[in-house]
Amino acid sequence: MGPRKKTTAHKPLKPDENSAWSALKALVDGFATTARHLGRKPITESYPEVKRQLPDRSRARIVLTRDPDGRERCVACYLCSAVCPVSCISMQSAEQPDGRRYARWFRINFGRCIYCGLCEEACPTSAIQLTPDFENVQRDILTLVFEKKDLLVDGCGKDPSYNFYDYAGVTTDQRGKGEHASEAPPVNVKSNLP
Ligand code: SF4
Ligand code: SF4
Repeated sequence: MGPRKKTTAHKPLKPDENSAWSALKALVDGFATTARHLGRKPITESYPEVKRQLPDRSRARIVLTRDPDGRERCVACYLCSAVCPVSCISMQSAEQPDGRRYARWFRINFGRCIYCGLCEEACPTSAIQLTPDFENVQRDILTLVFEKKDLLVDGCGKDPSYNFYDYAGVTTDQRGKGEHASEAPPVNVKSNLP
């Protein structure tokens, strides 16, 4: 066995040298970021004169939409009201002569709403939808209680072709269960029995 080679171990940096090096690097990085932005054109939007177009998925003022045939989408199923974490939705259900359910009255207290979007997620008819309209500030908090006439809009909103009654499998004056082209005929549960 020959003589062992003498290895040259790196001398570890002292704690003071490490922290000095990190501080210097952070300083250089900071100045480099500032320098990069010096030549950039500033983006200044003079709100409210210039109103920025927010993404469609932005969650602000809530509306009640209509079916493509213009009828009210809401069937007053209470799901949005049940899921709302701050209990700011209330309504009363009723039935039209042709068998379609609707909300006799529908109320949202925007003074409590936290714009979480859970009501929209829960809605089976795509009736309740959050819009990007965030300019809903009032001095008198009581004016933030919106009634159905304030919520109901003329359009379909995000889903222009969906009609709950084409898939719902419920009987109305116009057709029975399973009679729409988009529906499957109802299953006779007794046929599955032995
Ligand atoms: S967005 Fe959230 S808090 Fe507002 S009404 Fe819907 S479920 Fe309630
Ligand atoms: S808005 Fe939708 S979830 Fe709420 S009651 Fe009407 S149909 Fe049901």
